[in-house]
Amino acid sequence: MHQARTTCPYCGVGCGVRADIEDGRLTGVEGDGDHPANYGRLCVKGSALAETLGHHGRLTQPRVDGVEVDWDTALDAVAERIQAVREDAGDHAVAAYLSGQLLTEDYYVANKLFKGFLGTPHLDTNSRLCMASAVAAYKRSLGADAVPCSYEDLEEAELVVLVGSNLAWNHPVLYQRLRTAKSRNPLMRVVVIDPRVTDSCEIADLYLGLAPGSDARLFNGLLGWMADKGKLDDIYLEHHTEGLDAALAAAREDDCRIEAIAADCDVDAERLETFFYWFASQLHVVTLYSQGINQSSSGTDKCNAIINCHLAGGKIGLPGAGPFSITGQPNAMGGREVGGLANQLAAHMDYHTPGAIDRVTRFWTTETLVPSLPEAPGHKAVELFEAIERGEVQALWVMATNPAVSLPDANRVRAALEKCPLVIVSECMADTDLLPYADIVLPASSWSEKDGTVTNSERRISRQRGMLPPPGEARHDWWIVSAVARRLGYGEAFAYDHPAEIFAEHARLSGFENRPDAPDSRVFDISALAELDRSGYDALAPIQWPVTAESPRGTARLFEDGCFATPSGLAKLIPVRPRGPEQALSEARPLRLNTGRVRDQWHTMTRTGRAPRLMNHRAEPFIEITPEDAAALGVGDQQLARLTGAGGEYRARLRLTKSQRRGEVFVPMHWTDRFSGAARMGSLLAAHLDPLSGQPESKHGAVALEAL
Ligand code: SF4
Repeated sequence: MHQARTTCPYCGVGCGVRADIEDGRLTGVEGDGDHPANYGRLCVKGSALAETLGHHGRLTQPRVDGVEVDWDTALDAVAERIQAVREDAGDHAVAAYLSGQLLTEDYYVANKLFKGFLGTPHLDTNSRLCMASAVAAYKRSLGADAVPCSYEDLEEAELVVLVGSNLAWNHPVLYQRLRTAKSRNPLMRVVVIDPRVTDSCEIADLYLGLAPGSDARLFNGLLGWMADKGKLDDIYLEHHTEGLDAALAAAREDDCRIEAIAADCDVDAERLETFFYWFASQLHVVTLYSQGINQSSSGTDKCNAIINCHLAGGKIGLPGAGPFSITGQPNAMGGREVGGLANQLAAHMDYHTPGAIDRVTRFWTTETLVPSLPEAPGHKAVELFEAIERGEVQALWVMATNPAVSLPDANRVRAALEKCPLVIVSECMADTDLLPYADIVLPASSWSEKDGTVTNSERRISRQRGMLPPPGEARHDWWIVSAVARRLGYGEAFAYDHPAEIFAEHARLSGFENRPDAPDSRVFDISALAELDRSGYDALAPIQWPVTAESPRGTARLFEDGCFATPSGLAKLIPVRPRGPEQALSEARPLRLNTGRVRDQWHTMTRTGRAPRLMNHRAEPFIEITPEDAAALGVGDQQLARLTGAGGEYRARLRLTKSQRRGEVFVPMHWTDRFSGAARMGSLLAAHLDPLSGQPESKHGAVALEAL
């Protein structure tokens, strides 16, 4: 038996895992005591990893038009059909939809092929559903998509504010670290701001059960209150920021008295003032936010309302301080690094980053090939499927995700897929809701088989290591994309034999021609890792970017010098005008729908659904509702009920809970037609987007409930 060190494939905490390998099988896992994300801890999902493996149910053979074929036939078909669409309808008729489950090397190669050589900007990722609003807000305010904090900051803070985050269920090891830190520091306070009373409230000193969607009003109110009470950090504001007056003026368009804010947010005024006082009087404050903030039609503004308060109080760039967006997926950050969002080009550069198109073109040029980069951003997730519906996009390659389940208005997405002339799906599992729409199916390798890197929520790059051979004919995603690129005539730019070569190229691009007039790329720079050879890559220890000649051991905290990534070096306070959810309640749909994860499941359960002990926690889909609302509707606990929403219905048993606000229901996101033909969350939601980030409003549906 030997032990291999790798990284958990589930949430954005990015825990280090030690895996026992015996006779070609993975027989057990434990937390890696040396990994700085978890120091040996694992949550229940991570500790069950060994139980989720096995070849049963895996996709093992390529298929073209429903017929099993060999790889050469499948890859030829992919290349020929993509080329035919390009010739017939233009480069922009080709698109890709990727995933935060991919490794950074997979992401890099796919981004390079589609944006660099196929010349289409339409490559987006399911990370759009997770943290796109946080990205847009960091860029607006700090000048770069750069999370300023480390996990250690949570432990060093005097006040931790969890807003729109059920850390206990969704990032359990980070929650364990916070709970331990709180038990060691009796002065530490935790505030939970969430419409639902979640398990994270177990360590809360204060809970604010605000009305869904009122977060921006609350943080705008905090900014106004701090100004009124003389609690702004005037020196920090003067030297390191701009835009205070405009942000304050916007906040003051609403009544900034405590009673008025409390009424708008539907929280107790005394508790609200206590929170404001705690926030304003502590320097070491971390506000940690997640999908409860981001998945909103005003998610970017909500994030900026939070960041404004940190800038106004000088609570950033210090140990135990900062606005900390935590990602849902294991490699949402890695996707952002390579440019895997449709509004990005490559290496954290946007299309409008000065000189970026020329730089990337020069970098990707080979002896005989000159890439042809698009000049403007492509369609973001939901928009991409609308473009398919309109017939503008005619070829789609989906990798490691299931838009037929996870996107809002999922039935419309299915109709678009049905209509799309060419759908290629790279997938690990043989039976998913997406595969019936695929013309070409490509079997991909999975966790424990793939080799590469991921980046967690604190910018820490870790190795995921291949320990077992993939089953049947399954291949790594980077290999599949490179093989197609070669068939399309771009072999010289995709001559990779190992992910180490891809990582080195990615690292080189992050520092290529770095100049002060390209501020976005100044922050994301891992060029000091570009010289890693294969053995150095194999041995790469977890490290936080930037990693440069000046910071070869990585960087725990950003903006400590008060110099931000904007052209002026000043952070910007952004005027925020709070807006309510776009999905309006009505007589026909009077209940506010909230959606989210359950503790022991991951996404569409293709992996976690294989472990019986993980299914024990919540064995079937459900609808949570208060006893009062249930009584008013004449329904009872465990009764079967139907929710009707914008794009369809959802049937499940009721769970009565006092953790829910009146007038609201909660459903989990995990169940699909595979597991339950009637409980797909995505069919209830309308596709309303944040206008800046393109992130869908997945937390604020409008539904009706009736007994079955
Ligand atoms: Fe895996 Fe997240 Fe659990 Fe860590 S906290 S073991 S990364 S699921």
